[in-house]
Amino acid sequence: MKVRNQVGVTLCALSVLIPLAGEGATASRPVDTAAKGSASSCFGRGPINAAELRFGVSTSACSLVGRVVVSGDVSVVIPSAGGGVAADGVGTTATPGTSLRVTNVGGVVTATSESSSLADTAARPGVRVRTAALGGSPPACQDGAFKQEGHAWKTTLKWGYHSASTPGRMTARGAVTAIRRGIENIRDGQDNCGLAGQPRASSDYVGSTAAKPNIVVKDGSVRCGSRNSRNTVGWGSLPGNLLGWTCYWWNARQNMVEADMRLDPSRRTVLSYPANCSSKFDLQSLATHEWGHVFGLSHPGSGHANLTMTHLLPPCSKAPRTLGLGDWRGMRKLYGLR
Ligand SMILES: [Zn+2]
Repeated sequence: MKVRNQVGVTLCALSVLIPLAGEGATASRPVDTAAKGSASSCFGRGPINAAELRFGVSTSACSLVGRVVVSGDVSVVIPSAGGGVAADGVGTTATPGTSLRVTNVGGVVTATSESSSLADTAARPGVRVRTAALGGSPPACQDGAFKQEGHAWKTTLKWGYHSASTPGRMTARGAVTAIRRGIENIRDGQDNCGLAGQPRASSDYVGSTAAKPNIVVKDGSVRCGSRNSRNTVGWGSLPGNLLGWTCYWWNARQNMVEADMRLDPSRRTVLSYPANCSSKFDLQSLATHEWGHVFGLSHPGSGHANLTMTHLLPPCSKAPRTLGLGDWRGMRKLYGLR
């Protein structure tokens, strides 16, 4: 039973473990103009496999803007020149979380996906996760590790909640309260480490909205749509065992410009844990982690299991509500302190 609980640890994306691409990396990598991105093919008409864009493809022959890039059961739409889009999901080890990142910088479109590490994790569920991540990790207040997407909000992050999609087993008020607390946790650097100062990030909840998050699930695949200039959180079923899915966009000036979050309404995500908790996940903890992506943080990698931004989200725990040293430092680097 104990092992089963360990297996039930949720997994988020592992994209940072595969340094295939990044804002800084794209420019220095060889651009594959000869084969896959040639003028004659432009990858045909349908979705483009992320693996085909992993080393970057020139847009001189085809702009590729608006084309869909697919990795497994997740996809994004290629942004306009200068921009980027990334998405991270949280799932269980049975169907681990995933992530996909596509940039269109300097005339090169590059995709980074975590599919290879997913396969690695899925092949050795439970045991590998426990030994690699949970076993040797320092306590949260002694673990200063962090990684960033490299983009931050230069303006106040204004977001709305699609309250009509709230699952019937919880009130919209209760759900939005947990989600709001989640953003406050990461934005304000809530910690139990005695760290002085608050990140200078700002957000504003603008209320309930009729708009849904700009995230669509179709044919068992989850997709970040084209930008729509709204930041929305809402509920909707997600493929596999995904609990949450966050899409975020940045522009040519490296500023975050939009984010959307879709939460799976299944009974696994709760506002409070039952007495004999098993395989339940705290909405506020989940939201804290996902808002961390929205604010520009990535996963720190293996061996940092006690940080909020780790790719592991523990069941029946509220620990991710409180930032560890690395989470706090990451926010400080992106936003400075008040
Ligand atoms: Zn994540």
